[in-house]
Amino acid sequence: MYSTITSGTIYGIRSRLIQVEVDISQGLPGFQIVGLPGSEVREARERVKVALKNVGVALPAVCINVNLSPADIPKSGTMFDLPVAVGILTALSRLPAESVKDTLFVGELGLSGEVKPVKGVLPVVREAFLKGIKRCILPQDNAWEGQLVTDMESIGVADLQAAVRLLTGAEVRPARTERQETFPENDDNDGSAEDFADISGQESLKRAAEVAAAGFHNLLLVGAPGSGKTMLARRLPAILPPLSAEESLEVSSIYSISGLLQSSGRLKTKRPFLDPHHTITGRALVGGGRIPAPGVISLAHRGVLFLDELPEFKRETLDILRQPLEDRQVRIARSSGTYVYPADFMLVGAMNPCPCGYYPDMSRCRCTPHEIRRYLRRISGPILDRIDVCVEVRPVEFADMTGQPGKESSAQIRERVMRARTVQAERFARTGIHFNADMRAADVGRYCALGSREQAFLEKLFASMKLSARGYHRILKVARTIADLAGADRITEEHLAEAVCYRNMEVFNV
Ligand SMILES: [Zn+2]
Repeated sequence: MYSTITSGTIYGIRSRLIQVEVDISQGLPGFQIVGLPGSEVREARERVKVALKNVGVALPAVCINVNLSPADIPKSGTMFDLPVAVGILTALSRLPAESVKDTLFVGELGLSGEVKPVKGVLPVVREAFLKGIKRCILPQDNAWEGQLVTDMESIGVADLQAAVRLLTGAEVRPARTERQETFPENDDNDGSAEDFADISGQESLKRAAEVAAAGFHNLLLVGAPGSGKTMLARRLPAILPPLSAEESLEVSSIYSISGLLQSSGRLKTKRPFLDPHHTITGRALVGGGRIPAPGVISLAHRGVLFLDELPEFKRETLDILRQPLEDRQVRIARSSGTYVYPADFMLVGAMNPCPCGYYPDMSRCRCTPHEIRRYLRRISGPILDRIDVCVEVRPVEFADMTGQPGKESSAQIRERVMRARTVQAERFARTGIHFNADMRAADVGRYCALGSREQAFLEKLFASMKLSARGYHRILKVARTIADLAGADRITEEHLAEAVCYRNMEVFNV
């Protein structure tokens, strides 16, 4: 008596289909699960046994062997409960073998037989669909995640009995339209009512944000408390291009694995915005745990990671960001293997110019030069090296406070950003580079070539502003983005002059 049921597991961000093989034979009564099961998976034995009993299936005194194949992938979580129970029922001929074919089963069992929601349903269903499976039986509360995968028949069951009735044909499957009607298409109400038009004045600041968004450059905002740094940062996702359908599924999958999709109840269609407090641990930031869960930087994938009060973050915490900022993904090594999570985010930092926040307003700033230097040095090094655009945020001038809304809405700015992104997509087609910010030294030489006049201009600027060598490439990359926004093929003096203005962090080399 043998059966095999298709299920899946999450390994890092990747999902893999798993065959749950159940063999029932006469012999010493027992119940084994093999195939690299984690502790929650092993505990499935107890949950399945009790759940089966409580739905009226007393297990005969037989030997049950469950193998999770392929055996070399570590399995964790509780999503194997339902497939194991269904596999046992099929092996006992309580369910027709035909009924479970080409169907994905995922779900945790409660002792009463109820099927409880699990994390990571969306990526597993997606993987199943890519492998040619067209039907999935999921916990009722996760069924909508399956419905996000077009052309997948997604059926939610509330308990084991419902699954049995469905598979034996005793019950026509519940109409999926019922849930779909109430299923919201997107997460439009996630605070995105905030618009650039709300920011009065601050034109140079908004321009810097546009440049950063257009080239996916990391951004640092330096200014006194209350000058509008946070207000600007929160509005950045609105000027980034909307998520493509593929990106939306990718981002939603990360939230599904983290169990956060359920709370939003819909597919992510807005670029994420994450603003962890400066007391966050390195582990929460990049992901951690025995079976690592995605960290905040992975939840910010394809969106914005906003670190307010940057110098207040622990040095070690910021240093952890070095590798993900370079590779745009994070690798976490565990004895069970190396887990890779995507972490391609736009870093936006904000900080005061000095410990009290009011430098260079000497009528209010009480900091000594030594204190200011020590404060600024807290974020020097790897993080500053990754920031292309640094801009000083000045408190709003009186003339700006007349209540006049800003000239432009986020949508208008976004149109220009998207045009500049199209230019980059054409330029970098098949190079592995996506944005100007991704260019390495050799690429800068190739894509940001200057005419002799522009070269002389930049050299003069370098000498007069005492810019560092590492700033050189950053200026060229940002100038490339400014030229792209202007629809210009060649970088001109005007573009260079604007790019140099975004090198305020040179002051940190004190
Ligand atoms: Zn001060």
